[in-house]
Amino acid sequence: MSPRLNLIVLGKQGAGKGTQCTVLALKYGIPHVSTGDILRNAVKAGSELGQRVASVLEAGELVHDDLVNALVRERFTEADAQRGVLLDGFPRTLNQAEALEAMLGSDGIKLCINLDVAKELVIRRLSSRRVCQECGATYKDTDVEAISGTCTNCGGDVIQRTDDHPDAIRTRLETYERDTEPLLTFYGQREILVTVNGDQSPDDVTNAIVSVLHERGLA
Ligand code: AMP
Repeated sequence: MSPRLNLIVLGKQGAGKGTQCTVLALKYGIPHVSTGDILRNAVKAGSELGQRVASVLEAGELVHDDLVNALVRERFTEADAQRGVLLDGFPRTLNQAEALEAMLGSDGIKLCINLDVAKELVIRRLSSRRVCQECGATYKDTDVEAISGTCTNCGGDVIQRTDDHPDAIRTRLETYERDTEPLLTFYGQREILVTVNGDQSPDDVTNAIVSVLHERGLA
């Protein structure tokens, strides 16, 4: 059996996956692997990968499975991933879930945590979300950083992600329902799915996740 604490955090865009993964990564000493961040950084850096995927990200559509699977496979070879990883935004399709199982073996994923939040709430959260282009800190549109356009962490520019504009939000949520929701059945059948109410304060969500990991003897 794999000793690694490989966890998947699943949920609609805006469900709080990034926030929870940041906290849990620190708590358990495992890296937060966000395929969205990897792809966005590639776009920002203007790398070959970035140029290939920029328009897909902007439209809120999914990058090809083979490309994302290869990025994750490579990420698993890095030293910090040997104790486990917190996967955020991957897998997104059944094909990716099957590829992940092939990478890690059938008992490689210890738990899939589904952050459950109503669609109306995530639309509200995403439309008001602002992010720092430099450090990735997130703000609400009413926060002083969003109004001034300057991050208090690092001085970077605070902007609205192009895929947080209304048309892209609609596309992303439709894509989630069509391509990603079937993963709930996939991991449910493997008896490694837990659903946590994501409509609570971030601390309460973290506590709920920590309790589940504890109950299952995983951490
Ligand atoms: P996220 O920050 O997870 O919402 O991801 C931002 C964008 O990156 C998505 O809308 C997709 O275009 C792309 N992306 C991220 N993860 C994946 C994935 N696992 N499969 C395909 N595309 C992805």
